[in-house]
Amino acid sequence: MSEKKFLMPRFSMLLAIASAITATSFATAASAAEYLVKSKAEYQKVSSSLHAGDKVVLASGVWNDFEILFYGEGTKDQPISLVAEEKGKVVISGESNLRLHGKHLLVSGLVFKDGYTPTSAVISFRSSKTNYAYDSRVTEVVIDNFSNPERYENDSWVMMYGKRNRFDHNHLEGKSNKGVTMAVRMNSPESQENYHRIDHNYFGPRSILGSNGGETLRIGTSHHSLKNSYTKVENNYFDRCDGELEVISNKSGFNEFRGNVFFESRGTMTLRHGNDNLMENNVFIGNGVDHTGGLRLINKRQTIRNNYLEGLAGFRFGGGLVVMNGVPNSPINRYHQVEDSVIENNMLVNVSHIQLAAGSDQERSAVPITTSFKNNLIYSDDKRDTFTVYDDVSGIDFSGNVLNDVSKPTLKEGFENQSLSLQRGDNGLMTVANPADTKAGLKEALDPITKSDVGVSWYPKSDRQATFGFGAERKLKPGQDTLTNAIKAAENGDVLALAAGRYSVSKLIAIDKSIVIKGVSADEVTITYERGALFEIQQGGNLKLESLTISGVDSPDSSGNTVVRTPRRSMLSNYELIVEKSIVKDLDINHSFNFLTVAKGTFADRISIIDSKFSDVTGAILKLEQENDDFGIYNAEYVDIVNSSFDSIGGAIVDLYRGGTDESTFGPHLQVVGSSFNSVGKDKRNKSKSSFRIHGVQVTDVSDNVFENSAGIAVAHTVAEPVTVIKGNRFISTSAPSVVELNSDKKNTAKISGNKFIKGKK
Ligand code: CA
Repeated sequence: MSEKKFLMPRFSMLLAIASAITATSFATAASAAEYLVKSKAEYQKVSSSLHAGDKVVLASGVWNDFEILFYGEGTKDQPISLVAEEKGKVVISGESNLRLHGKHLLVSGLVFKDGYTPTSAVISFRSSKTNYAYDSRVTEVVIDNFSNPERYENDSWVMMYGKRNRFDHNHLEGKSNKGVTMAVRMNSPESQENYHRIDHNYFGPRSILGSNGGETLRIGTSHHSLKNSYTKVENNYFDRCDGELEVISNKSGFNEFRGNVFFESRGTMTLRHGNDNLMENNVFIGNGVDHTGGLRLINKRQTIRNNYLEGLAGFRFGGGLVVMNGVPNSPINRYHQVEDSVIENNMLVNVSHIQLAAGSDQERSAVPITTSFKNNLIYSDDKRDTFTVYDDVSGIDFSGNVLNDVSKPTLKEGFENQSLSLQRGDNGLMTVANPADTKAGLKEALDPITKSDVGVSWYPKSDRQATFGFGAERKLKPGQDTLTNAIKAAENGDVLALAAGRYSVSKLIAIDKSIVIKGVSADEVTITYERGALFEIQQGGNLKLESLTISGVDSPDSSGNTVVRTPRRSMLSNYELIVEKSIVKDLDINHSFNFLTVAKGTFADRISIIDSKFSDVTGAILKLEQENDDFGIYNAEYVDIVNSSFDSIGGAIVDLYRGGTDESTFGPHLQVVGSSFNSVGKDKRNKSKSSFRIHGVQVTDVSDNVFENSAGIAVAHTVAEPVTVIKGNRFISTSAPSVVELNSDKKNTAKISGNKFIKGKK
């Protein structure tokens, strides 16, 4: 017997036996119907009059451009549900979303992919400013890479409104446009004191956004932050949520964060605004990954208790444990003073930085008060002191804490220095080998939730993959367009191994997958090309060039050529570009010939030039200055120049620009080590008038290089305390580096030391 028929409801068992009459006449409150719908039109028809206990089943298949409005008044025992015919087999794609309003609604089993929402949310727990969802649940729903194609077009995947709603066992992965992945909204009384529950969700990888607006979960907003939310965030898994400084941004009161796991996520759980919140039994595992952080504390009556933090490398606002300074009489959107808060029984293992009174400056001068820091166990293998104290911390009562044999601890009172040995337990966490040694640390043993305990079982979770070289190796012989054709035919991850000879390229080569192009040696393999660019890195593309010579001799005689470029429009996916053991030369057929030219709205995770030689270039090597609106956006996270040489380069080697004063990103980072620069940056078209323009870069290391007859290094600091080191360089007939502070009266924090300045020939 076919149980599901369109508009032929299947009544609850009792009714079904007694009746064979069509749905419409039985659409009363007492009946419970099941509708299998196979088209949008069918859905519209049944969804307009749903009653308690009704079930709408979406047929398996792809539903394109489907804006689902789901509403009705269910009851606790008889919710109205919207489910997939088969979990995971109902794919909502194109310009689609889901809005729900009413009471006791249940949604499950849908997959949103291959599209994006035309509105501000993919799933919204309201359908309009007057229609909210209450006592409703969204469970076992997948949202996978459902990002607006315009990188800086702002939207969210889930917006919770209303009250007593639950969002659980969902899988959210790959948001790459701007906007918090999930938000609890509190902008009207219908959504305040909401008692929502967010649990057992898989918050999968979120790539670095390169701007504010890359949070994974936010509860409230600064405007309503003194209102209470009473949201519980429990047993969720945050897997490599790297969007920005804040993985979670709490901005309201009386929320509980319990039993969540933060795995290799760059950023912190921030108690940004609002009071009376609880952080308990959470586990942070950083594995030493750059900028992995823990907890950041602001405001009143917060409790941070029994959390486990290990291997977190983050510093400054992104540290393992950060207690902020506040602003006296702070406006609601700045920093309220830390007061009456408790940090107790936490265990920190190899956490690089604990920061107290962080952010202390002229504005943030209100130090933490009436706060206790007790029975915490802070262990580092290297016995290093992990505390940095930025201001007066006499308002924090330290007691019963234990350090592992730190030789000169910053804080002495309330800390015992003990020699401890740890061992890894069955739960994957470190414990004190002999529990009798100390009472500090976790009071209650933890059993952290695993990846397989969260989300759904029927949709694969993301595992880490190498960026390059995970496919096959394809051998290639020289000739006209053999390279173009081979890249077209290659699979994601392939390595093209080029035999000795010359490879001429007559068309722009699109790189929309991970590709390594590797020659036998740079001296034996030359690539020349006839278009304005050789490679265009497109959505999904990563490119590594190894042991090759690239020459611009066959390029068109026009200005503005480049070797590598991004598409001219914004791009969602982050890319990597690596140049290793290669020679790049003769980019001088006309002016402004760059090596890399990028567009606004594109973002590189990493650009590295290693063991390579560049010569005779009229433009810049890496031109990364397209985000010129001063919105705190930038074009690349890590830029490395290592053991390479540059001769006769008209423009800058690196022009890296991050404007604005926003403090929510970790990058950009620039490393320039062991390289030589001869006659660089002196072309009259080089507007930066420098060999390196380093504007708003957060971490800069320029060490052990030789600059000769070149334009200087120009550093501009835009936000507090960037890390700038310029040391051990020789500057021959090259002006000294200049560092300016654009937004601080303090002496600049750049460390410039051990450099030699030589006039004339060496
Ligand atoms: Ca933020």
